[in-house]
Order: sequence, then C-alpha cells, then structure tokens
Amino acid sequence: MEIFRLDGQVAMVTGGTAGIGMAICGCMAEAGADVVAVGSSGHFDDVRPLVEMHGRRFHGIRADLANMDEVRLLVPETVDVLGRIDILVNNAGIIRRAPSIDVSEEDWDTVMNVNLKSAFLLSQAAARVFMKQGSGGRIINIASLLSFQGGILVPSYTASKAGLAGITKALANEWASQAINVNAIAPGYIATANTQALRDDPERSKSILERIPAGRWGEPADIGGMAVFLASPASKYCNGGVYPVDGGWLGR
Ligand code: NAP
Repeated sequence: MEIFRLDGQVAMVTGGTAGIGMAICGCMAEAGADVVAVGSSGHFDDVRPLVEMHGRRFHGIRADLANMDEVRLLVPETVDVLGRIDILVNNAGIIRRAPSIDVSEEDWDTVMNVNLKSAFLLSQAAARVFMKQGSGGRIINIASLLSFQGGILVPSYTASKAGLAGITKALANEWASQAINVNAIAPGYIATANTQALRDDPERSKSILERIPAGRWGEPADIGGMAVFLASPASKYCNGGVYPVDGGWLGR
C-alpha cells in the first residue's frame, strides 16, 4: 500500500551493522528507501546485501558515536553521497552492566555519549537539512523498556533510554509543526548481542521468558515493521510517541 512506501527517500540508520539496526535497514529498503548504515566496526558485508537485494542504494559509514567530531560528519556525508536525507533512525546503543556502586565515570560517559548525546546531535543535524529541503522528515529513536522501568544493574543505560524518551517528546513538540515527526520505539527483549548476557544466565533468561505474554524473545525483524510505519506517510499524525514492541511485556 502506498501509505507504507518510502520510495525516493534516504534513511540513515545508526548501528546498522548488526542486530535490530541491520533488520531496520533491510525493512527500509524493502519499503523503497536508499540506506546509509553507520557502525564503528566498519563491517557492512552483512547489511549491504539486505539493502541491495531490493534494488536500493547502500552506503556504509564507519564512525564511533562516542566521538562527537565523527558524529558531526555523518549527516553531511549522507547528503553528499545520496543527495538528501529524509529519515534518521537513532538505533546504535551499548549497555554496561554493573552494580550502581561500582559504575565508573568513564563507563557512564561512554554510554551517555553513544546512546543519547550522539542521538541529539544527529537529530539536530538532520532537522536542519529537513528544514532546508522543505519536505519534512522522520526521526525514530530506538528507546527501551528501560525508558519506563529502572532495570537491574544497568543504571547508565536506563538513564540514557529515559533521556531518549524525553528528547523524543521535546523535539516532537518543537518540530511537529514543520512536518518533522519524532517518535521512538521501545523494543522488549530481543535476541541480539546486546542481550546475550541475559540469555546466557539460565535464571534471568527463564524469568524474562515467563513474563512475556507472547511466549518468546523478540527477533530484530519484529522491530523493522514499526520502524517502516513510523517512517511512512501512514504515521503522519504520530508525534512524540514512545511505542512498545515487546510481546506484551509492559501490559502485564
Ligand atoms: P547490537 O546487536 O549490540 O547492535 C548494536 C549496534 O550499535 C551495532 O550495529 C554496533 O555497530 C552499533 N554501535 C555500538 N557502539 C557503537 C559506537 N560507539 N559507534 C557506532 N556504532 C555503534 O544491539 P541491538 O540489540 O541490535 O540494539 C540496537 C538498539 O536497540 C540499541 O539502542 C539498544 O539499546 C536497543 N534495544 C535493544 C534491546 C534488545 O533486547 N536487544 C531492547 C531494547 C532496546 P558496530 O559494532 O559496527 O559498532
């Protein structure tokens, strides 16, 4: 259906080299968008074919989102190479597990920089281009259940994801009138590298699974459809929402 199509648009996805971000890249391309994926590993061999199989253009950018000098180059490079930007997905994220009493200042800063500060600076840079292009734009932040809950042993991650939900609303308030839709997706427990430690812990793994009404861990592709929806004309009246895709976790 046309209302779910993204033909002629350019999407930039941070953390597009693996997990949820890679699935989002494939879904965006299937819906018609050209895709720029960003990752610090520079490993684009897995994601590139997921985009090119749909006949869409792909460009990979190696950058460390903890380094704001590198962050500042991303939107300009996207526009240089693919001509424009219409969709920004702030997906890259890291998690550091430790009791609050032991969290180092360095770990706190790294998590906040990658998960929150880079997302704000990229949103700012993309919105400037959206305003210049005059055709609006979409910003989709990948938040978390820990945008709503405290979590266990991940205080910096929780702070960053609560912050991401906050700026989703703050930026939507400022930019909705200019056809820039800012929304977030709060994934539940998805089977990726990010949650490997939980799945490796038999007790945590069991207690998590028992609480998910859908009865299974999520797959990265479970998030892709919601990302396409929030990038497409179908969601043009969605502004400042933080939408759970969690197999029912929060409703329980
Ligand atoms: P993942 O498999 O670990 O992938 C993380 C992605 O972020 C990778 O592509 C990685 O690319 C990139 N990345 C990490 N640090 C980076 C840095 N410093 N600079 C640039 N890119 C960086 O994790 P995931 O589960 O797909 O997570 C994606 C997002 O969903 C995260 O924001 C996470 O917090 C969120 N989330 C995940 C879950 C879950 O259950 N998995 C639940 C809720 C929310 P490189 O390796 O190339 O750097």
